Amino acid sequence: MNQSIKSIGVLTSGGDAPGMNAAIRAIVRTALYYDLKVFGIKHGYQGLILNQIEHLRSHDVAAIIQRGGTILKTARSEAFKTEEGMHTAFENLKQHDMDALVVIGGDGSFRGATEFGKRYGIRIVGLPGTIDNDIYGTDVTIGYDTALNTIVEAVDKIRDTASSHDRMFFIEVMGRNAGFLTLRAGIACGAEAILIPEVESDIHKFVDYLENGYRRKKSSNIVLVAEGEKEGGAFEVVKKLQPYLKDYDVRVSVLGHIQRGGSPTAYDRYIATKMGVEAIKALLNGKSGIMIGIQNDKTVHVPIEKAIKIHKSIDLNELEIINIMNV
Ligand code: ADP
Repeated sequence: MNQSIKSIGVLTSGGDAPGMNAAIRAIVRTALYYDLKVFGIKHGYQGLILNQIEHLRSHDVAAIIQRGGTILKTARSEAFKTEEGMHTAFENLKQHDMDALVVIGGDGSFRGATEFGKRYGIRIVGLPGTIDNDIYGTDVTIGYDTALNTIVEAVDKIRDTASSHDRMFFIEVMGRNAGFLTLRAGIACGAEAILIPEVESDIHKFVDYLENGYRRKKSSNIVLVAEGEKEGGAFEVVKKLQPYLKDYDVRVSVLGHIQRGGSPTAYDRYIATKMGVEAIKALLNGKSGIMIGIQNDKTVHVPIEKAIKIHKSIDLNELEIINIMNV
């Protein structure tokens, strides 16, 4: 192992995701296991600029594996995008003798890390932390499984009301510009239809479906609408579909931030821990400029620039499953 690294920093950046704490715990404890010093940076890059840095020991990460959010807190930082802000961040990093940085966040955070690493020769390793699962090079991101389960639980509850009143619910699901959460939740909740940004004309197909197949259905109807849907959010979609919905008792529900919080699932805790351990091992082996991903249940190293640049596409075959299930 390359022992030139003596000290590392860890931060969470961008949107919070359940499992980030499990990743922080794994990073801190693995670093300590290999006799490295660890610093926790509060509020993402903003905290690096403001010197909100603290030494972390093993007990500082005790009993956090089950907690949602991030104990290091997270933020978006416009200042870090400026030369001055980044320089101050570098000065603070050096002041604490940090040789490397582990960044837990989404593609925006990776962009910042890459820029920082290149400009100041800092060793960087990224961990994909976002509920949206929209990062190339990893089958899953930290937080995705928990968010998926939260959505399923919420939709199941709405289904009870929908069935009792023979209603049609349009439920808006968070996920930025990606439909991963909506598609998988649609399959898991037995949704009658989904609308996702990856499929251009799905709203027209939905009208066909309403006119030809849907009418036969007696009880509840659940339509999941991804927040990034090109036709708009759930309210807008319902407005556009108004002429076709006259015979239905329609309601709209927006799940919103409820999707982001909560105790992480066993799976999220597991992958976050596995990725955190691998991040430190990779740094000790001289690796930098990589993201730790999960492919076929194994940790993999993905060039971080690839993870940023390449668009992760949805498996459109899974859409067919929704149609088949609604025969
Ligand atoms: P996410 O990581 O969830 O995609 P954002 O896109 O908001 O979240 O990015 C998080 C932060 O990363 C930004 O607030 C900013 O501080 C930093 N960042 C993003 N892009 C750049 C960039 N090109 N240069 C420097 N910092 C960046």
